[in-house]
Amino acid sequence: MILKEIDVAIIGAGAAGLACAIKLHDSGIQNIVIFERNPFLGGILRQCIHLGFGLTYFNEELTGPQYADKLVKNIKDRNIGCRLNSMVLDISEDKILTVSSPQDGIMKYKTRTIVFAVGCRERTRDNIEVPGTRPMGVFTAGQAQTLINLHGLKIGQKVVIQGSGDIGLIMARRLKIEGYDVIAVLETLPYLSGLIRNKVQCLDHFGIPLMLSSRIKKICGRKRVSGVYVETENQEQYYDCDTVLFSVGLIPELELARNLGLNIQDNSNIAVNSAFEGTKDGIFFCGNCLHINDLADNASLEGEKAASFVAEYLRHPEVFREGLTNKLPYCECQKYSQYNNDFFYQLKDGESLVCIICPKSCILSKGSNPCQRGKDYLSSITSEGFSQRLTTTVLNSQEEYIPIVTKESVSIESFPEKVKELKIKMS
Ligand SMILES: Cc1cc2nc3c(=O)[nH]c(=O)nc-3n(C[C@H](O)[C@H](O)[C@H](O)COP(=O)(O)OP(=O)(O)OC[C@H]3O[C@@H](n4cnc5c(N)ncnc54)[C@H](O)[C@@H]3O)c2cc1C
Repeated sequence: MILKEIDVAIIGAGAAGLACAIKLHDSGIQNIVIFERNPFLGGILRQCIHLGFGLTYFNEELTGPQYADKLVKNIKDRNIGCRLNSMVLDISEDKILTVSSPQDGIMKYKTRTIVFAVGCRERTRDNIEVPGTRPMGVFTAGQAQTLINLHGLKIGQKVVIQGSGDIGLIMARRLKIEGYDVIAVLETLPYLSGLIRNKVQCLDHFGIPLMLSSRIKKICGRKRVSGVYVETENQEQYYDCDTVLFSVGLIPELELARNLGLNIQDNSNIAVNSAFEGTKDGIFFCGNCLHINDLADNASLEGEKAASFVAEYLRHPEVFREGLTNKLPYCECQKYSQYNNDFFYQLKDGESLVCIICPKSCILSKGSNPCQRGKDYLSSITSEGFSQRLTTTVLNSQEEYIPIVTKESVSIESFPEKVKELKIKMS
């Protein structure tokens, strides 16, 4: 039975899906439904309780939940339809969605267009084939983030983290703030993978060592992790630990798209034209399922962009395809500036890349000169006197874990005391 006929089905209520819905609504396309499998709107933002979001999109520095709240307010103000706890299980050739939810059971929606905003999944220990035993205490960084930030659980005590991408760096700091011992962050590459600001603010300020050209060679332990062998440039060393976190990359979530028979390249890149439309008519992609966005702002902007293509498709289907190409407009910019000791990368003629020094994440080309800003930013964060605004979660009187952030910076030495004080005060 078809429950409802709609113009746009947005699958996923993260930054990309919400921004897409808001933009569509404002451009006059209002017969939209957002489907979200979680009981809340906001996607991954809800578990990212640290600061560092929204500098471009909202022009202020926010935590992930604050960023999500702003988008959700815009959704509520516009009365945009959202189906929570609603997992899209299947999509037929003629765009009928099969949706499962505890409140409605199995429901069918017929839609004219679909926007995939389903995010990504994490690579695991298995993806990078780490030998050893299979004890408790091995997590992906995102799993650990969910357990600690959303459910208030303790996942161990002595932690080794493999992967120096932003999630690994941010989790190293989170663990330290919440009272864990972080032995080291290991990186297989000879340079940092994440943003330099995250290395400074998450590792350097907290005295957490970064070991480059290093990888876990073997995990030991029977019931629980007891330690790891780490290889650094052909030298092997054993580290005692009870927890291992893998932060070794994200893969666009493409299972539904694959079932629908859309063209996927290299098993993880959805083939789209310059309107973010996949290889089937009226099916669009944005956010981390299209490509991994380091910044939520970019995922939101991409959601808005997808919205304008969807609106154009619905309004002028006969001319929509004119001038479209198979090349994404930003493809050539998806090359990242590599971390090197003097923070400068010599661009070649015609080359462009995303700067990773400061949060502006400028697109650089030869002749552009953002280095002074990057340099100033870097010196400002290194000379902050080791103080930051503290973020943590506290249990409120309704037994819910809620994220909080201090208004002012707190010196890092006093973080443990401050965390204790906040947790007692709020409980
Ligand atoms: C640890 C971490 C730290 C980060 N730090 C920063 C930072 O400091 N600053 C910054 O700007 N950005 C940061 N980012 C990046 C940013 O948060 C993300 O790029 C952005 O929020 C992704 O948005 P999205 O909408 O593409 O995906 P998501 O937020 O993942 O949303 C996808 C949604 O789709 C839903 N979904 C999936 N499949 C289905 C289905 N079949 N049916 C229904 N619903 C479905 C999921 O439940 C989810 O809610 C960080 C990301 C992580 C993981």
